[in-house]
Amino acid sequence: MSEKKCIYMDNAATTKTHPDVVSAMLPYMTEYFGNPSSLYDFGQTSKKAVERARQQVAQAIGCGPEEVYFTAGGSESNNWAIKGVAFANQKKGKHIITSSIEHHAVIHPCEWLVSQGFEVTFLPVDEYGIISPESVAGAIREDTILVSIMFANNEIGTIEPIPEIGAICKEKGVYFHTDAVQAVGHVPINVDEMHIDLLSLSAHKFHGPKGVGCLYVRSNVKIERLIHGGGQERKRRAGTEHVPGIVGLGAAIDRSVSLMYESNMQIQKLRDRLIEGLLTIPHSRLNGHPTNRLSNNVNIMFEFIEGESILLLLNQYGIAASTGSACTSASLEPSHVLVACGVPHDRVHGSLRLTLGEETTEEDVSYVIEILPGIVKRLRDMSPLTPDELRSKK
Ligand SMILES: *Cc1c(COP(=O)(O)O)cnc(C)c1O
Repeated sequence: MSEKKCIYMDNAATTKTHPDVVSAMLPYMTEYFGNPSSLYDFGQTSKKAVERARQQVAQAIGCGPEEVYFTAGGSESNNWAIKGVAFANQKKGKHIITSSIEHHAVIHPCEWLVSQGFEVTFLPVDEYGIISPESVAGAIREDTILVSIMFANNEIGTIEPIPEIGAICKEKGVYFHTDAVQAVGHVPINVDEMHIDLLSLSAHKFHGPKGVGCLYVRSNVKIERLIHGGGQERKRRAGTEHVPGIVGLGAAIDRSVSLMYESNMQIQKLRDRLIEGLLTIPHSRLNGHPTNRLSNNVNIMFEFIEGESILLLLNQYGIAASTGSACTSASLEPSHVLVACGVPHDRVHGSLRLTLGEETTEEDVSYVIEILPGIVKRLRDMSPLTPDELRSKK
């Protein structure tokens, strides 16, 4: 038997920690284990490393280092931004605007806030998953305190009109938060030019370690804290800093932002070849925007079959892919993103997400293009939904 292939096409779920990032982190797990809050030299070495990472983040998104707060990842950052702004500004109003295609780490805190007496508007999207700036403008009221719209969608890769939405929020005096977890390291970002007041990012989506991220908070934003305790992160986020993780985040953001242009050129070429190859399969369609999408995202719907069963067969061929977000794939619920884009219920289940990365090769793409038509055919032969003309002749 030949050796089993291992083709990783699930970079939207997580990325491989880059060896240079691991090397940067290692000394902070072995030699330099001091607590950054300690006054002796040992602690100060750790503190310096944390402050250097803060600089690296600030440089990457165009903010001041004093506006960067380290957290335990994208989910914590989103929860903090939304609940923190809601509770600190509830005297002004209790209305929040978001979209129907956000990650669950935005949707669920918003739904929880409804149970606490807040009101949330979930804006619709068009068939490509785009939130129109006009719909944001139309939804803002006297009592609106926050708009939270993701930078780029994790399932379909659609990139939202962030600068336009930011300009509207600025003009109306409403805070603007963006979940940029899929965008950082992949799309150029400048929080000033884009009028962003709060931004969430997570290291493991750009070849950094898991369990570490940060929230950018513009200096004039009123925000309540989520984690009470010690005085870390300028008294806004308690807990001894995850020093190796933070060092890894800094190294990873530095590296991915400086390699972004070349990396995107290379990945996008592979993406377009993959899309073109897979759309030759009959009754298939691209989900998300044809051009306004992340350079690594391929999301294709195949009629008459279940995405879950495609995944299992792909896995047998050594290909790691996904149907949508990691959270939805465990629950077999139809993707709320595809439903919001108007994909009919009987078709949302047949979608496949392949997200490429720096390590993806021409050969990987050729292999997937070679394997998938047979898998789709096999599943269609078994499916009661398949029309006769698509079945293999007996
Ligand atoms: C992965 C992801 C998150 C969650 O980030 P974690 O660091 O895994 O908690 C939030 N939003 C989006 C868009 C994501 O892709």
